[in-house]
Amino acid sequence: MTHIAEVIVDVPTMQTDQPFTYEIPTELQAVIETGMRVEVPFGQGDRHIQGFVVGLSDVSNVDQPLKPITRLLDLSPVVNDELLQLADHMKQTTFAFKITCLQTMLPSVMKAEYQKQIVLLDKTHQIRSYFPESGTLSWQEAEEAGLLPQLKPLRAAAVVEVQYLVKNKNKAKMIRYVQRQIDPATIPEAIDQLRKGSTRKAALLQILSKEAYLPVSFFTENGISTAVLNQGEAEGWLTLTEVEAYRDPFKDHDFQKTTPLALNTDQVAAVTAISTAVQNQQPQTFLLEGITGSGKTEVYLQTIAQLLQQGKTAIMLVPEIALTPQMVERFKSRLGDAVAVLHSGLSQGEKYDEWRKIERGEAQVVVGARSAIFAPLKNIGLIIVDEEHEATYKQEEAPRYHARDLAIWRGAYHHCPVVLGSATPSLESRARAQKNVYQLLRLNQRAKANAQLPTIEVVDMRTEFAQKQYQTFSRLLQEKIVDRLARQEQIVLLLNRRGYSSFVMCRDCGYVLPCPNCDISLTLHMDTKTMRCHYCGHEEHIPHRCPNCQADKIRYYGTGTQKVEEELKELFPEARVLRMDVDTTRKKGAHEKILTAFGEKKADILLGTQMIAKGLDFPDITLVGVLNADTALNLPDFRSSERTFQLLTQVSGRAGRAEKTGEVVIQTFNPEHYAIQLAQTQDYEDFYQKEMWVRHQSGYPPYFYTVKITCSHPEEQVAAQKMFAIARDLKQELSPESVLLGPAPSAILRIKNRYYYQLIIKYKQEPQLPAMLTRLLDQSQIDQRKGLYVSIDQEPLNFI
Ligand code: ADP
Ligand code: ZN
Repeated sequence: MTHIAEVIVDVPTMQTDQPFTYEIPTELQAVIETGMRVEVPFGQGDRHIQGFVVGLSDVSNVDQPLKPITRLLDLSPVVNDELLQLADHMKQTTFAFKITCLQTMLPSVMKAEYQKQIVLLDKTHQIRSYFPESGTLSWQEAEEAGLLPQLKPLRAAAVVEVQYLVKNKNKAKMIRYVQRQIDPATIPEAIDQLRKGSTRKAALLQILSKEAYLPVSFFTENGISTAVLNQGEAEGWLTLTEVEAYRDPFKDHDFQKTTPLALNTDQVAAVTAISTAVQNQQPQTFLLEGITGSGKTEVYLQTIAQLLQQGKTAIMLVPEIALTPQMVERFKSRLGDAVAVLHSGLSQGEKYDEWRKIERGEAQVVVGARSAIFAPLKNIGLIIVDEEHEATYKQEEAPRYHARDLAIWRGAYHHCPVVLGSATPSLESRARAQKNVYQLLRLNQRAKANAQLPTIEVVDMRTEFAQKQYQTFSRLLQEKIVDRLARQEQIVLLLNRRGYSSFVMCRDCGYVLPCPNCDISLTLHMDTKTMRCHYCGHEEHIPHRCPNCQADKIRYYGTGTQKVEEELKELFPEARVLRMDVDTTRKKGAHEKILTAFGEKKADILLGTQMIAKGLDFPDITLVGVLNADTALNLPDFRSSERTFQLLTQVSGRAGRAEKTGEVVIQTFNPEHYAIQLAQTQDYEDFYQKEMWVRHQSGYPPYFYTVKITCSHPEEQVAAQKMFAIARDLKQELSPESVLLGPAPSAILRIKNRYYYQLIIKYKQEPQLPAMLTRLLDQSQIDQRKGLYVSIDQEPLNFI
């Protein structure tokens, strides 16, 4: 009998980042499986924590006596063999702890929550007066009773002990049902025998004469209380049962069934290539490069419909903000109940329910944001990463994984193809297609009959300013807005900055109001009448006088979505404007509401940040205005051109998607920059060529691989010194072809009162690097206790 379990415990540190050996109590030996969560004692005292079983055996290679597993937290494994292997792969490639990888894969309700409680051991001690009959107090109760200071000596004297409990939060929602037990034929007789005035019981019997099985809510809604139901149960008329229910986030939606569209030649070629690879179980990666509106989604839908017929399953990843109701609708209305949707707008309970549906094989298609790559589907036939260039596919905290890489790993595991789709692929992916590592599929035309790419005009804001036109809206853009309003067509305006204006500055002394915790200026928010830090959330009042020189010359500079909204109302009082940014979409469902209203033509203008650039497919949008194309361009990051080109192409793609032709106006101070000029001609291939040349010249990805190392500490000195020490060590070990950028202070030196220093390694071949980095992390263990953190980011998407 297997009686030994290897367990990864919920203590994310380097020393504990390995399996620990436990004894399996006899009664659990027949039921325990790898991939289940367990509660185990760990470390000193009575501390109990959550762990994952990663191995079972019947011999222990540990000498000491083993502690037993306390209990099982699951009835069946929550991480299957594939995902256990994937966790190992993530650990190796992201330098994260295995426990962090495992927890990342599961819905957050399955993360352990711990409760501390105090147990009275010596029932004769005077402290007993504070304890209830049961002899246990929660930590909070002990705190409120003022007992905490006394606890330490009492514990040492074995009067009390502290227990740590693992709380299992993943509760399924239960619905109570009434099951009829009385023979319907005898009901009239039973009613006759009721005492006069027993109208409720009579009503209950009436219902039971017609229905054998109904939810309790049906009865309570009809005036029959649970007390009456309990009496009915006592009479033997019925039994009350509980049935597990799914919280369905789309229960109020009515999806109209849609049928596949007749594909054009490009689409047919793509569907055929992908479906053939599905059929032949080829783990091939395709890059589907299709201009905006070329019908990529239709290609996904039809390939998935085919593989469902063969009993296979599919994952489709989309960037969080592109997971619009429109996108969900397209999937649900074509593929029906086979589709499960995972995104951040769901409550924790809803996410858990969608996850269980997938896990039980009740959903075959998963549409979701980044973490949907961990969907516990079996028999996967296809994984799609739509808008594959999006930076949100990379997680910015540990484990710093890229969903695209994990998609390819899972594709190899399942022997199935992976499709990376985009109108503007990342340079890395496009370069791989060039080398035939990925197979390139292209869609060169807009799919709808008569739909054309929009025409794009670039407005040089320097000439506007030279002619004393200091407005947010150039004259050309204003003219076009007036025109569209008159024609009752719709307008999308992109402004890449939220808030009212970017900063306030004193005109006398030039003082800019900074965040006290971060090295960045505060942003004015007119709706809350506060200054806010976009990094740490710090808020304060808007100053009337300059805190530096006391002058009353405080002015607002730059421009934000709130301010532009006001300007729009002044310039075009008749226009109905909807604003979409982080501030207007904070509430659950707000995003959906804004888009639905716009889709129903309840507004003429949709003004927003990046989040409006993706996924909108509305036929009446005929004008797109980009108010400041330069914001991304000015960042000191080698990807700034790529990001600018992508954003401009994406947002332009919202115009003229149906019969009506579209126009785009791009306002910029850098009209001669190649990213702007090539966005104007909307030629991705040209941009790719030019940008590859730039990357080659300056030695950046995809010609080099990169790793970013960051140190942070509350004192600047400490962070800097550590970074320099690391750089010295690395320099000795790295090959001469590799390049170190830095050490340097990070672009924002201080965030939340911690100082950040960074170092970037650029390399082509460095087989020893993973081992070096692991050792480096190992050595920084001792520093961690002093508040010094070292983190490693493979292929960072942010260089600053
Ligand atoms: P993409 O995902 O490439 O931006 P979509 O899949 O959203 O493009 O397609 C754009 C529009 O064209 C959608 O309204 C879609 O219904 C329509 N469409 C797609 N394929 C076809 C087709 N073969 N015939 C007609 N319309 C199509
Ligand atoms: Zn701050």
